[in-house]
Amino acid sequence: MACDDVPVKTPRCDCCSGPAVFHDKKTARHLCREHFIADIEERVAETIRSRHLIVPGDHVVIALSGGKDSTALLMILARLLPSWDSVRLSAVTIDEGIAGYREDTIHSADQLVARYGMDHTSIPFTDLFGGTLDAFLKGREAEACSVCGILRRKALNVAAERAGATKLATGHNLDDEAQSVFMNVLRGDLPRLVRDSGSDSKGRFTPRIKPLMFVSEKEIAVYLMLHGAWADLPECPYAVHALRGEVRSMLATLESKHPGTMLHLMESKTRIEAQCAGRLDEEPVRHCRECGDPCSGETCQLCTLKKTLSQ
Ligand code: SF4
Ligand code: ZN
Repeated sequence: MACDDVPVKTPRCDCCSGPAVFHDKKTARHLCREHFIADIEERVAETIRSRHLIVPGDHVVIALSGGKDSTALLMILARLLPSWDSVRLSAVTIDEGIAGYREDTIHSADQLVARYGMDHTSIPFTDLFGGTLDAFLKGREAEACSVCGILRRKALNVAAERAGATKLATGHNLDDEAQSVFMNVLRGDLPRLVRDSGSDSKGRFTPRIKPLMFVSEKEIAVYLMLHGAWADLPECPYAVHALRGEVRSMLATLESKHPGTMLHLMESKTRIEAQCAGRLDEEPVRHCRECGDPCSGETCQLCTLKKTLSQ
C-alpha cells in the first residue's frame, strides 16, 4: 500500500470517543467539542470557587475590551451565571483612543453585550484625561504600555466605582500571568512578583479578579472558534514596543517545546508567595498629595504621569 493510502486515524475524545477537536499536550488528553467547552468552563468555575473570586451578592463588572480574552471571559461568566446565587454581571469598555485598533474591538464589544442583553458602559480616555492615548504618546511611543497601563488602571477603577461593582473581572489568561511572573523575575522585582496588584485586601479599590488565569491563550482561541465567536481583530500598534512582546514569544516557544512551562511558572510564583508570606514589609497605606488616591509614594503614578503628559 502506498504511503498516501494509509488511512489517517482520527483522534477520539478521551471522555466519549467522539471526534476530538483539541489535543492537550500537557495532559496528552484529546477532547471533542462538547468536552473541551465543558472542561474550560469547569476549570474557570473551579478557579472562581477555590479562590472565592465571586460570592453571593456580588456585582461583577467585566472589563470588556472586545478582544479575544475579555470576549471569552464574558461568554464563560454569562454561561456560569445561573449556577450562582444573586450575582449580577455588567460590562465596561475603556476607549483609550488608539486609531486603527480600538474602533474594531469596541464594535465587537457592542455586538457581544447586545447579544447577552447585558448592561454596558463605555468610558473614553478623552472624558477622564482630556485626550487620547495616541495624542499622549506622540514622541514617546516606546513608553506606550506603561503610560496606557497607568491610565487604564485609573479608568477601570473609576468605571467600577461608578457602576457600584463589588468585583472587577479582567481577561488575563495563563500566558499573561506567566509572562508577568517571568518579567518580574527579569526585573528582579520580588515585591511585585508576590504582591498581586489585582487584589487589595484593604478595600482601597474594587477588587480585581482574573477568572481565566489558568486558561491558555490557545485554549481561549479554540473556545471562541468552537462557539463561532472568533474574530480576526487587529493587534494594538504599540504592542511592538513592549518587553512583554519579547517575553511572550520566548515563553510561547518554550511552551511548545516543553508543554506545561507556563503552569510551572505559576506554581513557582505560588511557592515563592508561600515562602515570603509574612516576611515582606507591609506596603504602607499612603495617599497621593495631589489627588488623594491611595498610593505607595508621596505622589501616585497617575499624577506623576500627568505632569509629563502636559509638558
Ligand atoms: Fe495599551 Fe500596550 Fe495593550 Fe496597546 S499593547 S492596549 S498600548 S497596554
Ligand atoms: Zn494622585
